[in-house]
Amino acid sequence: MKKELIFNQRINVTQPKLPDYKMYTELLKEIWENKWLTNDGPLHERFKEQVKKTLLVENAELFTNGHLALEIALKSLDLSGEVITTPFTFASTTHAISNCGLTPVFCDIDPLTYNIDPDKIEQLITPNTSAIVAVHVFGTPCDVGRIEEIAKKHQLKVIYDAAHAFGVEINGQGIGSFGDISMFSLHATKVFHSIEGGLLTYKEKRLAAKIKSLKNFGITSPETVDYIGTNAKMNEFQAAMGLCNLESIRNDIHSRGKVYEAYLEGLNDLPLVRTLIQQDGVKPNYAYFPMVLPSREERDQLFESLKGYNVFARKYFYPLCNQFSCYKNFGFETPIAKDISDGVLCLPMYADLKVEQVQQITEIIKLELGEQLE
Ligand SMILES: *Cc1c(COP(=O)(O)O)cnc(C)c1O
Repeated sequence: MKKELIFNQRINVTQPKLPDYKMYTELLKEIWENKWLTNDGPLHERFKEQVKKTLLVENAELFTNGHLALEIALKSLDLSGEVITTPFTFASTTHAISNCGLTPVFCDIDPLTYNIDPDKIEQLITPNTSAIVAVHVFGTPCDVGRIEEIAKKHQLKVIYDAAHAFGVEINGQGIGSFGDISMFSLHATKVFHSIEGGLLTYKEKRLAAKIKSLKNFGITSPETVDYIGTNAKMNEFQAAMGLCNLESIRNDIHSRGKVYEAYLEGLNDLPLVRTLIQQDGVKPNYAYFPMVLPSREERDQLFESLKGYNVFARKYFYPLCNQFSCYKNFGFETPIAKDISDGVLCLPMYADLKVEQVQQITEIIKLELGEQLE
């Protein structure tokens, strides 16, 4: 341990982006003037239109958070039985499937992208399978082409958990334009946020009425309730935050790119450390910086020693969803996911992180891993 490398202040894995204070309070003034706080208010509508343009999608709806948006996506497609999904994700993905009365079937992941492995999906399909819920983990796109082929062949719906993928494009197409529905989380810790918030983008316009109704108790007109809905509406304060943060999203992603490059440069002479690959034709959003170490012991040791330097990394995603006690009985073997999950450590990554801070973090990692290997 080197004393001079200790940070004076805590460096967390993420730090929420806050917009210019005046810009936000200007919008709050509008809320006071409108006296309209929630239920599709004027800022909500403005935010929705702007976000569609940013994401290059035709259809979108806003929600109070990403998790409820994902549950509503699943409900709107009238799924039943089994859903093939990945265990290498946040608990929300699997919980959404289960909360909709569906059974998650865990498929192993690709060792380079950490996303669901299309080669392993078909062997899990049964007559009860109704959908694939894939996750663009860390903002890296899934193999959307292969997944679409499989879904077409077996008549399955495809829902993407794009919680990490705001702003990502594949050959100039918004990531939200693939599959039947995509869910983006606009939580404070994500690349782009509205404090809490969620967003669905979807292919078929005819889903609009149902999706809107499901987030407002299933109400379809003043005297009719046609679905067993919930309350998942986005309020005006959230929309105001979203509108402010949209102003800087391009710059924010650019700054994250600098952080990403500084990490790669700092870690490239550590052959034992694997970092996330970038794919051809993909415009990334640098949502996370995961590094994968050869074993759980090495990962855990580094995780602990970083804390001594005031650096708080996170074990995303460890444990796997199929290791949680509530899903243990599902008993699916996913050895590659287990390998990645045991070695993974997400390093601090946010737009306001300075390149010098990243250099200090990589210095620390080199020092500590050097000591571990001795
Ligand atoms: C954050 C996240 C969610 C849930 O989004 P919230 O907006 O926090 O409800 C779902 N899936 C993944 C992969 C996430 O990272």
